[in-house]
Order: sequence, then structure tokens, then C-alpha cells
Amino acid sequence: MADTEQKKKGLGSVVINAERCKGCGFCVEFCPTHCLELSEQYNAKGYHPPVLTLPEKCTGCNMCGLLCPDFAIYGFLFKKKKK
Ligand code: SF4
Ligand code: SF4
Repeated sequence: MADTEQKKKGLGSVVINAERCKGCGFCVEFCPTHCLELSEQYNAKGYHPPVLTLPEKCTGCNMCGLLCPDFAIYGFLFKKKKK
């Protein structure tokens, strides 16, 4: 599975390195806006990586990145457009 970066919908988004993931679910459980779910698909190690199922709710807070033991996900804020 390739790294995924979602299209711009919310304030921020996440980058997921699915192959690093061990499917612990910390990111899903502790995301403050509950915008992640574990995928039904498996990575090469046989774990279910997270997917951003509600991208419009992601704030880019990076709580998922702080909690992930395997550095498999991080959140970021979209840059504001210059006027
Ligand atoms: S960056 Fe924050 S809001 Fe977005 S998925 Fe991670 S924990 Fe949830
Ligand atoms: S916290 Fe990290 S290792 Fe655990 S499910 Fe989320 S991305 Fe995978």
C-alpha cells in the first residue's frame, strides 16, 4: 500500500505510511474528531492501517502522529492561501 495523503477538505489532513502500521488503533481511538477508521484492507505485515474516512473533520492537530508508536501517521495543517 502506498502512502496516502487525502485531498483538501478539512483544516488539515494526515499522511499515512500504511506499511509501517501495526494496526494498534491508537490513532483511531484518540483522534479528537473521530475522523479515522481502521481499513478493511491489510498491509504487507497483515495489519489493518487507518484511513481518513471523514476528511472534512480532520483538524490537522497531529494527535494521531504523537500517539502512533510506529511513526506511521502524522497530521498537518493546510497552508492558508495568500490573498
Ligand atoms: S490530525 Fe488530529 S484530527 Fe486529523 S486524524 Fe490526526 S488526530 Fe484526528
Ligand atoms: S497508531 Fe500507528 S500503528 Fe497504531 S493503528 Fe494508528 S497508524 Fe497504525
